Amino acid sequence: MSVPLLDIQRQMEPLRTEMEAAISHVFKTGHFVLGEQVQQLESSVAEYCHAAYAIGCASGSDALLLALMAAEVGPGDEVIVPSYTFFATASAVARLGAKIVFADIDPQTFNLDPADVARRVTSHTKAIIPVHLFGQCADMDMVHDVAHGNDLLVIEDAAQAIGAEYRGQRAGALGDVACFSFYPTKNLGGAGDGGMLTTNNERLADRFALLRGHGMRPRYYHQVVGINSRLDSLQAAVLNVKLPHLERWIQMRIDNAQRYNSMFEAEGLQEQITLPLTHTPGRHAWNQYVIRVSGGRRDALRSYLQECNIGTEIYYPIPLHQQACFTDLGYGPGSLPETEKAAGETLALPIFPEITDPEQQYVVQKIAAFIR
Ligand SMILES: *Cc1c(COP(=O)(O)O)cnc(C)c1O
Repeated sequence: MSVPLLDIQRQMEPLRTEMEAAISHVFKTGHFVLGEQVQQLESSVAEYCHAAYAIGCASGSDALLLALMAAEVGPGDEVIVPSYTFFATASAVARLGAKIVFADIDPQTFNLDPADVARRVTSHTKAIIPVHLFGQCADMDMVHDVAHGNDLLVIEDAAQAIGAEYRGQRAGALGDVACFSFYPTKNLGGAGDGGMLTTNNERLADRFALLRGHGMRPRYYHQVVGINSRLDSLQAAVLNVKLPHLERWIQMRIDNAQRYNSMFEAEGLQEQITLPLTHTPGRHAWNQYVIRVSGGRRDALRSYLQECNIGTEIYYPIPLHQQACFTDLGYGPGSLPETEKAAGETLALPIFPEITDPEQQYVVQKIAAFIR
């Protein structure tokens, strides 16, 4: 048997005819950039996330950049971000000349540790970017406590978390602005790059729309220096076909996570490996199912699973504060202990919606065979 980390074809294939019709409709209209499909997607995503506004852009990375640009973050400002996340969360801060301040994570959820965030706030801090890592919302009550007391903007990095909920509210409406990605590995993935910003703030929404199109309003009159980060109509056409299925796919991911948990428990493995815990009050959207393997055995397990034709991934092997491009920020070894520990222990297993029961059984059996 062979179990890939993600099998995009299983999701795309049943919808292919419908997607091809939507794509050929775009060709007929000839509106390839920010066409009617983009407007339709923006209103459906706003509704799905319970947010007042949604503005499409070219990628999740650009959504983060646009959020910070709209907040006029620049030299002299500090932005607090986790180090245990995808690169784009921090690079957006660096690109604007602001100072990245890395905070440590809670070892159980892998999300920002709000107590560590609070310790790192200074008079220069302008924003916090809580990442809803792996599809589980950050501890937003605590994030808001820190933010309100210090007048900070809260930017959700919800790239992995469309459909996640916190106390009954969806990711996308839990902060001042949220950033989504439609990269193909995300819970709602396009046929290429795409991104979106959501907010309940009318002024910010207007700013995002201005900044994504070179600050141009009206045509060829530039109010501010923006960027070119528009969403293609072809991507929106594909995503409009997929969005109505998102709730079902998330439920399948939740079922798959529960199935892994009970399979690992049936094998008696819950002591040797740490299963992902859902601590957050709300719904985990399970973009990734990430176990911890201690005792320095993670990499050997990963190689063994590869020999068994089981796809896995390490999110993330090198924390951002230890990346070559950020060494000048001065975070030495041991400066973010939980982040560094997680980077050495985590392993993501296949959890895509369409994975079958026998495939999950095979994954668990092979892990059991290695651990024992
Ligand atoms: C994927 C991802 C991004 C970037 O999204 P792109 O669309 O690939 O630019 C940002 N943050 C996190 C946490 C991500 O997982």
